[in-house]
Amino acid sequence: MKNMLIGDQWVGASDGRTLSVVSPSNGQAFDEIPRGTAHDVDRAVQAARASLTGPWGQLNAMERGRIMMRIAQKVLDHEEELAQIEAKDTGKPLSTARNDIKVLARYFEFYAGGADKLHGETIPFLNGHQVSLLREPLGVTAHIIPWNYPAQMLGRTVAPALAMGNGTVLKPAEDTSLSALRFAELALEAGLPAGALNIVTGLGEEVGAALSGHPGIDFISFTGSNEVGTLIQQAAAKNAVKCVLELGGKSPQIVFDDVDVERAVPIIVRAIVQNAGQTCTAGSRLLVQRSIYDTFVKRVAEAFAKVRVGTPEMDLDCGPVMNPAQHKRVQRYIDQAREQGIPVLAEGQIAADAPTTGHFVKPTLFGPVPRTAALACEEVFGPVLAAMPFEDEADAIALANGTEYGLLAAVWTENAGRLHRVAKSVKAGQVFMNCYGAGGGVELPFGGTKRSGHGREKGFLALEEVSTTKTLVHYHG
Ligand code: ADP
Repeated sequence: MKNMLIGDQWVGASDGRTLSVVSPSNGQAFDEIPRGTAHDVDRAVQAARASLTGPWGQLNAMERGRIMMRIAQKVLDHEEELAQIEAKDTGKPLSTARNDIKVLARYFEFYAGGADKLHGETIPFLNGHQVSLLREPLGVTAHIIPWNYPAQMLGRTVAPALAMGNGTVLKPAEDTSLSALRFAELALEAGLPAGALNIVTGLGEEVGAALSGHPGIDFISFTGSNEVGTLIQQAAAKNAVKCVLELGGKSPQIVFDDVDVERAVPIIVRAIVQNAGQTCTAGSRLLVQRSIYDTFVKRVAEAFAKVRVGTPEMDLDCGPVMNPAQHKRVQRYIDQAREQGIPVLAEGQIAADAPTTGHFVKPTLFGPVPRTAALACEEVFGPVLAAMPFEDEADAIALANGTEYGLLAAVWTENAGRLHRVAKSVKAGQVFMNCYGAGGGVELPFGGTKRSGHGREKGFLALEEVSTTKTLVHYHG
C-alpha cells in the first residue's frame, strides 16, 4: 500500500478507503492506493497554497532550477526501479518504460534550465515613467493526468509549473498512480520543499472533480477524454481559472507518391503500435495517394504483420491495453469495422505465452476505410490503423482536416514545396515532415487545435501558460 503526499505528510484517504492496483498484463491486483476524498483534495490545495509563502515561495528562480536539476538526477539514478514500477502498472514493454523515465528526467532538466530564463520586459511609455513587466507564478496549479504515459505526463505538466514557482497538486489516473508516488519520495529527497508538490490519488469523479472545482486553485492542466475535458472547462469557468487541455487526436500520416518508402514504413507502423496505440499523438490514419496506394499499403501490411504483443518482461513491440473497459472499447471498434466489411490488411501477433487474463488486443490494419466510418473519424486509442486513398494535394488536405481533431500530422514527400504547402494547410499543433515525433520532444511546443484542446505544453511556451505577468508603472519624474 502506497500513501499520498499532502504537504510533508504521507497519508491514506481521510475515510481510509483504498483502490486496488491491477496489472493489465494478467488482470491480477498487486497493490493498493488511497481512494482520496474531497477533504484530501482540500488539504492538498491548502498545502500547495501554504508553500507559496513558505520555504518554496522564498526560493529564487536559480535555486528552484537547482532543485529541479537534482530531481532529474535522482530520477536517472533510479531509472531502472521507476521503469519496473511503470511497466508493471501500465503493462508497457520494459524498454518503453525505461524511455519514459528518461523523458521524465529530461522534463525536469529542461525546465530546471528554464526556471531563471523567462525574463520580464520593459515597455516604452509616457515620459517620466518606467514600466516593467514581471513574470509571476499563477499560484496553486492543478494537474489531472491520464494512464497512458504516467511518468512522462507528470513531468510534462508539473515540471514547468514548479519551474515558475507554483504550488502544485497532481491527480494521477486511478489505474496508474505508482510511479508518481515513488517520484514524489525522490523529489523530497532531492530537496523539494514540502507543499510544492502534493499528490492525491483516487477516482476521477471524486478526486478529479473535487480538484478541478476547488475554489482555491488558479489553473488546471488536463489531459484525457473529450467528455471529461468538457467537465474540466465547466469547472474552470465557474472559478474563472485558466485551463490547458489536451484531448487526443486522430492524426494523419499523409503519404505522397514520391515518399521514401524504406524510411516511412517502419516509422508509420511504430507511430500506431507504440504504447498499444494508447498515445494521444498516435498516427491512426494512413492517407496514401491513390497512384501508390496498393503497393505502399502492402508494404505497411507486411511490417504490421510482424508486430508482436506481450508482457513488459517479454519486451516486444507493445503491451496490453490498460484495463477491461479499454479492451472492450478497442475490440468493439475492430469488430464493428469487420462487420461493416472493411477489409483487414494485416494483424499483429499476441505472444503465445501471454497470460490469457491480460488485456491484449491484436494490432489491426484496415483499408480502404470509408471516409465516414467510425474508424476514419473517431479516436480508438488502440493499435488500429485506418488506411485511405486520396487523389491529389487538395484532397489530401481536405481528408487530413476532415475530423474534429487537430493534434499532430505527418507529411511524407520528397517534394519540398509540397511538404511545406501541405504542412501549412493542415490543422494541427505539430506537423512532422518525413518523420514522426510521438514520444519525448520535451523541447517542442505541443498541443491541439479544434477538439484536440487548447493551450501549449512542452517547450518554453509551457512556462508562459503556468505563469502570469504583472505590469509595474513607476513615475519617477
Ligand atoms: P481516459 O479515457 O484516458 O481514462 P479520462 O478523461 O476518463 O480519460 O481520464 C483522464 C483523467 O481524468 C484521469 O486522471 C481521471 O481520473 C480524470 N477524471 C475522470 N473523470 C473526471 C471528472 N469528472 N473530473 C475530473 N477528472 C476526471
